[in-house]
Amino acid sequence: MEKEIDFSCYTSIKIGPVKNVRLIENIEILQKDIFLIGGGNNLLISPNPPPLAMLSKKFDFIKENSDTLHVGAATLSGKLLSYAKKHNIGGFELLYKLPGTLGGIVKMNAGLKEFCISDNLKSVLTRKGWLEKKDIDFSYRNSNIGGVIYEILFEKRVGFDYKKLEIFKNMRKNQPSKPSAGSCFKNPQNDYAGRLLELVGFKGKKIGNVAFSDVHSNFLVNLGGGTYDDAITLIKEAQKAVLEKFDVKLELEIKIV
Ligand SMILES: Cc1cc2nc3c(=O)[nH]c(=O)nc-3n(C[C@H](O)[C@H](O)[C@H](O)COP(=O)(O)OP(=O)(O)OC[C@H]3O[C@@H](n4cnc5c(N)ncnc54)[C@H](O)[C@@H]3O)c2cc1C
Repeated sequence: MEKEIDFSCYTSIKIGPVKNVRLIENIEILQKDIFLIGGGNNLLISPNPPPLAMLSKKFDFIKENSDTLHVGAATLSGKLLSYAKKHNIGGFELLYKLPGTLGGIVKMNAGLKEFCISDNLKSVLTRKGWLEKKDIDFSYRNSNIGGVIYEILFEKRVGFDYKKLEIFKNMRKNQPSKPSAGSCFKNPQNDYAGRLLELVGFKGKKIGNVAFSDVHSNFLVNLGGGTYDDAITLIKEAQKAVLEKFDVKLELEIKIV
């Protein structure tokens, strides 16, 4: 089955073409060149992307077992956070305003500062079966999980931590409200991409209708009607400026599709 998606509405940065996307209903072998879309919160989609696929609603579920939480990879972060709150389960507080599907969040090992989604993860279901956490290489904003993540098993810790939630709420205070794809670049070791961007004068810098936010320099924001070309030009200029001034190669956190 296919679904037509307007990526200028679907993605968080509100840029992208209208394309047909294959809906994945069952665990299967995907064509090699297919790009898997989650919630589209970390993506910049070009006018001519490769073939696209996404998980169907069949993978949107939360099931509670005695000591684990079993979550479908198409489940949205907000839904899991609400569930954890309602059922007094700890370990999911970091999902506050961390947009995405659990599949995308686990693949990216998304998180904030030293906290990340893999902290209380037990295993993930891929086409090859259940992969234990100890056999997965989770690194800063990345994992080596190959192929599609269909389901995830988390430890079930008793006690939703409202103090932790407050900490995450505070950390989000400097997050721009304009459409973005989150942090544009990964933080280089022992430094912050935002700091370097600010020092080369890119805080608030604009090309067309895409800019580095004046609230948080590492957020690439769409000011309204921004285009893929504007975004790419600005990204390249920023990388060049930081490389020239600091000899640091800024690595992309957002995925260009
Ligand atoms: C306002 C805002 C704030 C943000 N704050 C943070 C933050 O604090 N910390 C942080 O880490 N990120 C942050 N992000 C980025 C984003 O929330 C994360 O990268 C999240 O993991 C994206 O999930 P997604 O489902 O939208 O994935 P997508 O953006 O759709 O895809 C991201 C990657 O995951 C892969 N993927 C998606 N689903 C699956 C699956 N089922 N199986 C295997 N691979 C899959 C895709 O192929 C792609 O490579 C923010 C984004 C926004 C817009």
